[in-house]
Amino acid sequence: MADSTSRLPGNESGDFYVDSTCIACVTCVTVAPECFSMKNSNEHSIVYKQPSNEEEYSLCIEALELCPVSAIGDDG
Ligand code: SF4
Repeated sequence: MADSTSRLPGNESGDFYVDSTCIACVTCVTVAPECFSMKNSNEHSIVYKQPSNEEEYSLCIEALELCPVSAIGDDG
C-alpha cells in the first residue's frame, strides 16, 4: 500500500501520487499516459496531472491496481 508520507516530489498536488517504492516499471505510464510520466531520467514515475474526468480516473485506478509494488496512492 502506498504511503503518502513517502510521496515523491514532482507529483501534482491532489489525491493520486507515486511514492518512493516505485521501481520504474512504466506500467502506470502505459496505462494512464494522461496522468503519469517518468521522471528523473526514468528513475521513477510521478502523477504529473490529476485525473480530470471519469475516463482518466478509471485509468488511474487501473494503474494503481496493476502497479507491482503498490507504489501508487489514492487519498480520495
Ligand atoms: S506502475 Fe508502480 S512501479 Fe511501475 S512505474 Fe508506475 S508507480 Fe512505478
